[in-house]
Amino acid sequence: MKESTVSEIKDLILSLKKNGKIISFVPTMGNLHQGHVSLVERARKESDIVVVSIFVNPTQFGPNEDFNNYPRTLDEDLKKIKEAGCDIVFTPEVLEMYPTENERLNNNKSELDKNISRTMVSAFQKNKVLCGKFRPGHFDGVLTIVLKLFNICMPDKTYFGLKDYQQYILIKDMVKMLNLDIEVIGCPIIRDKDGLALSSRNSYMSVEQRKKALSLSKALNSIKNAFKEGEKDNKKLKGLGLSIMSDDDINIQYVEIVDSETLIPVREAGEGNLVAIAGYCGNTRLIDNIIL
Ligand code: AMP
Repeated sequence: MKESTVSEIKDLILSLKKNGKIISFVPTMGNLHQGHVSLVERARKESDIVVVSIFVNPTQFGPNEDFNNYPRTLDEDLKKIKEAGCDIVFTPEVLEMYPTENERLNNNKSELDKNISRTMVSAFQKNKVLCGKFRPGHFDGVLTIVLKLFNICMPDKTYFGLKDYQQYILIKDMVKMLNLDIEVIGCPIIRDKDGLALSSRNSYMSVEQRKKALSLSKALNSIKNAFKEGEKDNKKLKGLGLSIMSDDDINIQYVEIVDSETLIPVREAGEGNLVAIAGYCGNTRLIDNIIL
């Protein structure tokens, strides 16, 4: 079943909840791959009704980011999630989610218009580190749309990929802080056979760039192996990752080893810490991470 208005999907979900159904929810921006499918399959196993949203959210893209070019492949997406066991798809238009954004959209801009009054959800501290440092406003856009979608879809459980680890932590924090009765479940990163983490943005890369992009997972594995062999020095471990990625011409944004809950950098690496990396391969921004 496909719904695109807030009132329709709310009515539908409310009636299901009245009948005692456990609702799970997987938010996505579409151009779905096996990573997204894995979330839907897990939700299918653990609930009665699986709701997936497909919405490219303008408020989480910066002014020079790829909102307009983000791949939109709705027909293929619908097939994939149906096969994976999705019951209800929510595919709103931008104006349905942001009714006051008319003017901005007419000007074809993805950035936030400062003249428009807007209520946003904001994280503090943890939105300034890792990706947040390089994408100002991104996580405010993510938290805002996810809270809106939670209010609309009223899920009991929600599934997020650990590929976007910082996003997962910020959503968990939001749910706790705002007293939402939703269980947030983090799901493993799905990778291509050669190790590249699946991402909708991988399709931007040429064959040559795709090969170089492998250095992200190589860097993470090398750091983890060195750690297992006894290296604990944060600087040395980071240096290892940096040199692997720069050899492959990755324009590195960061390599960080942080506490996996607070996201604060650790001086000495320890088991359970998160190694997170981000960089550009050509014009494509890639992220990846691993737990030590
Ligand atoms: P997106 O469509 O990029 O907003 O992603 C929607 C959801 O899919 C998020 O929870 C992502 O973390 C998750 N996701 C994206 N790529 C992967 C992947 N390779 N493995 C697991 N989950 C993923």
